[in-house]
Amino acid sequence: MTNFQSWGRYPRGEQQSKPLYWPSDFPGSYGDGTSLLPVGMGRSYGDVCLNHDNTVLLTRPLDRLLTFDPQTGRLRCETGVTLGEILEFAVPRGWFLPVTPGTKFVTVGGAIANDVHGKNHHVAGTFGRHVRMFELLRSDGSRRFCSAGQNSDWFEATISGLGLTGLIHWAEIQLKPIVSRKVQYQATKFHGLDEFLALSEQNRNYEYTVSWIDCVARGKNAARGIFMCGDHSAINEPREPRRARTINFPMDLPGIALNRATVGLFNALYFHKQTSKQVSKLVDYEPFFYPLDAILRWNRMYGKEGLLQFQCVVPQVDAIREILNAIARSGLASFLAVLKVCGDVRSPGMMSFPKPGITLALDFPIREGRTFELVDRLGAMTAEAGGRLYPAKDARMTGEQFRNFYPRWQEFSSYIDRRFSSSFWRRVML
Ligand SMILES: Cc1cc2nc3c(=O)[nH]c(=O)nc-3n(C[C@H](O)[C@H](O)[C@H](O)COP(=O)(O)OP(=O)(O)OC[C@H]3O[C@@H](n4cnc5c(N)ncnc54)[C@H](O)[C@@H]3O)c2cc1C
Repeated sequence: MTNFQSWGRYPRGEQQSKPLYWPSDFPGSYGDGTSLLPVGMGRSYGDVCLNHDNTVLLTRPLDRLLTFDPQTGRLRCETGVTLGEILEFAVPRGWFLPVTPGTKFVTVGGAIANDVHGKNHHVAGTFGRHVRMFELLRSDGSRRFCSAGQNSDWFEATISGLGLTGLIHWAEIQLKPIVSRKVQYQATKFHGLDEFLALSEQNRNYEYTVSWIDCVARGKNAARGIFMCGDHSAINEPREPRRARTINFPMDLPGIALNRATVGLFNALYFHKQTSKQVSKLVDYEPFFYPLDAILRWNRMYGKEGLLQFQCVVPQVDAIREILNAIARSGLASFLAVLKVCGDVRSPGMMSFPKPGITLALDFPIREGRTFELVDRLGAMTAEAGGRLYPAKDARMTGEQFRNFYPRWQEFSSYIDRRFSSSFWRRVML
């Protein structure tokens, strides 16, 4: 038994974990009769990457870059390779990830299985849209090459397939060309959701847009935030790798450290750090895409009890207004609150999360009773508003909610490998 954990460090439990070094090791004799789940970096927040009382297959050792065509930017790699490792290889050669989430410490397998999205969702859609092909290994020893034109049903089921359709051994990804490491960045302060929507509309031609929102402030400061947008710089510059400076979060803070007062103070400082209404500058891609990656193990800030993440997408802004009011009334504080308008680019995944509307992501330290109560209420409000929750960031949605949010779940179930399961799947299905 080991303590492989998800990023939220909740739920807790034990499971066997076995590293996979070679694809030929699979299916082998792993599991000893228990169910299996391949996992990557454990950067999912809840239980989608957990298989308590069963076995997780650690795919990180499958970390080989297999082929790269410098003319077309097509990269084939094993799925334990992280997005950070792809960037180290690709950026000096003038290529970038087509889509990236807010951390580079995720594997290609994890990015496909949750069909992750990023700041360019409104123009580029999800990660799965840029996957050209992959090889899927099943526990019966069979293997399938899957693409939009070959085994396309398996392709759709496995992109956003929550790790349940088999082990993805390698994947071929279409990278995008760049000429500089830098991003032309612009940040604009806003007050209220109407101003946020207006900024999103005015700046929709930027490739990347995202906002930080203060969900603690009330009164005239309610829903204040910073709208950030950017494009890859068009000025041709050397793209040598840089050693990103990181620090290790040294310890688990006591649970009480993140409270309304401390988060309120942090939020006010963050908002006022930018003194003018708008700033524009050239910045390196690392702090633009991955501001949190500079602090390793930052989840320890939430204390030993861990954190609950909540991410919804809803079709109308009024639901976001109500959700923010409910959070403000609850007295619980979240300081990593992110808001973004999602686009209508179709994802190939059967169970993909994003859909047109507005997505809000926040995290809360776990406080006995109160946090669960609040997150459950926010989930119910999301359902009422016709939205959905994101399995990669969830530890609380009910089975009924899941089946309503993801109406293709039955069709999807027929692709699940009979030896595979996860704590998430058992929670929403049993
Ligand atoms: C700071 C932070 C910021 C984030 N920002 C975003 C964001 O902006 N957008 C977004 O969409 N997500 C975001 N996430 C969530 C994260 O991108 C996803 O949870 C991602 O899937 C994690 O990848 P992983 O390698 O850690 O996989 P894990 O969390 O270990 O596993 C995720 C899923 O992938 C499956 N899996 C992993 N490898 C394989 C394989 N080889 N074959 C089959 N299945 C496999 C697992 O079974 C599991 O279901 C963020 C997370 C953090 C911590």
